[in-house]
Amino acid sequence: MSTKTKAIRGMRDVLPDETPIWQWLENKLRRLTFRYGYNEMRLPLLEPVSLFERSIGEATDIIAKEMYNFTDKSGEHVTLRPEGTSGCMRAVLENNLCYNKTQRIWYQGPMFRYERPQKGRLRQFTQFGVEAFAMKGPDIDAELIFMVRDLFQELGLTQYVRLELNSLGTLEERQQHREQLLLWFEAHRDILDEESIKRLETNPLRILDSKNPAMQSMLEQAPKLLDYLNEESRNHFNTVCQIIDCAGIPYTINPRLVRGLDYYTRTVFEWITDELGAQGTVCGGGRYDGLAELFNPKALPACGFAIGIERLLLLIQTLQQNDNPLWHFSANVVITNEMNDDGLYAQTIAEKIRSNINALSVVVDCSGSKLKRQHHTARQNQCQIIVTINKDHTLRMWDLSGAQQLTIGEKELINWLQKYYQKFLG
Ligand code: ATP
Ligand code: MG
Repeated sequence: MSTKTKAIRGMRDVLPDETPIWQWLENKLRRLTFRYGYNEMRLPLLEPVSLFERSIGEATDIIAKEMYNFTDKSGEHVTLRPEGTSGCMRAVLENNLCYNKTQRIWYQGPMFRYERPQKGRLRQFTQFGVEAFAMKGPDIDAELIFMVRDLFQELGLTQYVRLELNSLGTLEERQQHREQLLLWFEAHRDILDEESIKRLETNPLRILDSKNPAMQSMLEQAPKLLDYLNEESRNHFNTVCQIIDCAGIPYTINPRLVRGLDYYTRTVFEWITDELGAQGTVCGGGRYDGLAELFNPKALPACGFAIGIERLLLLIQTLQQNDNPLWHFSANVVITNEMNDDGLYAQTIAEKIRSNINALSVVVDCSGSKLKRQHHTARQNQCQIIVTINKDHTLRMWDLSGAQQLTIGEKELINWLQKYYQKFLG
């Protein structure tokens, strides 16, 4: 019987073929955060279970069934983080980062949720998250939306994503709405599915999020949170809309947009695509002014968003079908070798080229295959220059772009490459 060891369900390897596109995207994300003045924070993957129980809320799917919890050797209840905002808030409070100042922070890394794996839904997935602390005005909510819009523009995705907005009000406003919503659901109990009936007790707002076709017309008519906002919350929301109107960003207001996590207040938004089937939310975010108070006596306004990187890459690859040269690694120079010296001369030449022109990638074929095969591999991997070390110690060089080839000495070769790659050397 085969006992092949396999990766855990819902956890993927990013293979060497795929890393160039990840790095390409990561460079764009880094550039984006730089342009908007956000600083990176690197956070632990393990956090106390209690952090998420308090922040995300007991009634969410994450806490109820998706956490990777365990007890460590000292008996502490720890978990693999299911999202980044809670840890980010913990770190900000613990390190007093907002003492008399604001903070603009981003992070990227793996998150863990025990969900049913499918296209665009993994158990280990990667989030790029951006959080802004100690700024309570609507302008920072709009800034976050600008950032995501910029990113989609940069990636050529603008026409494939749409922005939906809503306001969840404050906790008190939500409470008032909740009472009316419960009355509405009780009056239509016969239409509710099993999942929704369970949610009646725990998290009735989330019922609005249901995709069950039989419930849609009832949900459309349910009491809307936007009608329960007081003046301050309404002004906040109107100003967010006004700022993004001025920037010409199209959006729709979706009164049923509630977001999965409990800690959101006021502005919430999602960027959705129709290209990925059911897993269409590429980015989700909003304001969470109430979160800090769950840990801290003092309030700390905050807002942020998170993008699922695997989903974003899936969208990019679905639309552009793998045709960007930057999504593949190819060496500039490959050294193929016919000399019988255990690679001594080939490695020496490679080192000379690297130390003279350090912008180039130089790869020695150490496969031990026949020369013909080495050349075939080099061409297949789309390198630019092949340098062959002949049996008699002489060098032959192929410029694959111009198809020219010449026999060349060591010094001449380096001079030639220096000239050829002038553009890199600046
Ligand atoms: P969804 O509605 O798809 O379950 P969510 O509301 O649970 O998303 P958030 O917790 O707000 O999502 O996370 C932000 C983003 O992270 C999502 O918009 C999505 O792109 C990505 N994401 C969330 N869960 C997963 C997952 N299991 N696998 C891959 N990406 C995910
Ligand atoms: Mg989810």
